[in-house]
Amino acid sequence: MAEFDLLVLGAGPAGSAAAVTAARAGLRVALIDRHSFPRDKLCGGGFTGRSMRYFREIFATGMPDTPVLRQDAISFCAFGHEIGHFTGIPALHMTMRRDLDHALVRAAVAAGATDLTGQKVTALDIDQPSVTLGGQAVTAPLLIGADGVNSTTARALFGRAFDPKHIGFALEVELPAETPPGTPVRIDFGAADWGYGWDFPKTCGRTIGVGGVLRRNTDLKANLSAYLAALGVATDAPVKGQFLPFGTYRRQPGRGRVMLVGDAAGLVDPITGEGIAYALKSGQLAAVSAIAALRTGAPETALDQYRKALSPIHRAISQARMIRPFIFYPAFRNSFVSGFRNSSTLRSEYLRLLAGETEYGPITRRTLARLPRFLARSVLN
Ligand SMILES: Cc1cc2nc3c(=O)[nH]c(=O)nc-3n(C[C@H](O)[C@H](O)[C@H](O)COP(=O)(O)OP(=O)(O)OC[C@H]3O[C@@H](n4cnc5c(N)ncnc54)[C@H](O)[C@@H]3O)c2cc1C
Repeated sequence: MAEFDLLVLGAGPAGSAAAVTAARAGLRVALIDRHSFPRDKLCGGGFTGRSMRYFREIFATGMPDTPVLRQDAISFCAFGHEIGHFTGIPALHMTMRRDLDHALVRAAVAAGATDLTGQKVTALDIDQPSVTLGGQAVTAPLLIGADGVNSTTARALFGRAFDPKHIGFALEVELPAETPPGTPVRIDFGAADWGYGWDFPKTCGRTIGVGGVLRRNTDLKANLSAYLAALGVATDAPVKGQFLPFGTYRRQPGRGRVMLVGDAAGLVDPITGEGIAYALKSGQLAAVSAIAALRTGAPETALDQYRKALSPIHRAISQARMIRPFIFYPAFRNSFVSGFRNSSTLRSEYLRLLAGETEYGPITRRTLARLPRFLARSVLN
């Protein structure tokens, strides 16, 4: 039995952020993943300004050590109409998760975390945290469950990884062809019902996908085909799919000596589907809570500290859920399209949100202030 101070199960952005934070503070950290890195992860790989801000804060370096296409142009469409094209915006970074996650694992291991990736987990004890890898058990007073949307840890704690009534689902294709320089990032609200489509240029091609609330999208493959056709793309590239948390985070992000982070805790923006930023931040917050609790010799207090530290993220996700109907509810669609086209404030707030310069609070307040006009326009339409 190998003993550590902290077990981190899952080495995506949430797990690596937790591991680097705890290892730098001198904890003995085991970073565990069933895959060896580099490994693929289905994702648009859009690394927003918000992700970059958290990345710099946590990893204490300027850029992830990975190929990145820096973009400063974005096109927004909604329900088939272009609603805005912007250039000179704060940089968005387009990554491939295979490379990005590998770079983050390398950084966590360089900070002192023990690399236990590429090993199958054969048993998990959530009461006296321990993980068995093949024949060998590793144990610690605390465990961080960073094992993604299908989290084994969440299932062990609560019986299921997510609520199927509220989960999202997304489909994607990777196109290897080079994208012409200057091709903007494109986001299409409504390419799926209560969801969106994306066309992200990369250094090595282009990632196109659609995603939305699963129960409202019974034929997401048809949405993807229609979206590809609208973009003028004919391809027989394999279509891959994955669940995506979409607004229902876990109010209780763990139990006992176990904390859940990232997708395992449901921390994804329910309008944009952005999850890397909250994965990084929640990983850091859980590690900071673990460090503080272990220092006082009271590991059982870590979860409560972590839950309190998460409240700004929980609030932001709840606010985004509140705004979501104003974008997707059929009676409001035209008002949203004309509101976004005509309101420079709304547009710039949204771009500031992607840049990580603001949160949903100010957007929610503005949306509520415009509500009477919005409703009147919707009734008249
Ligand atoms: C199609 C799609 C497109 C997306 N596009 C974007 C985007 O452009 N930008 C953005 O910000 N977000 C995007 N997201 C969301 C983003 O991918 C996730 O929010 C993010 O990956 C969450 O990070 P994580 O570390 O919590 O989990 P993950 O990245 O899923 O990492 C979990 C890790 O745990 C490991 N693991 C799982 N189970 C076990 C087990 N039993 N034993 C051992 N290891 C295990 C896995 O191998 C994996 O390495 C997208 C999601 C989807 C599905």
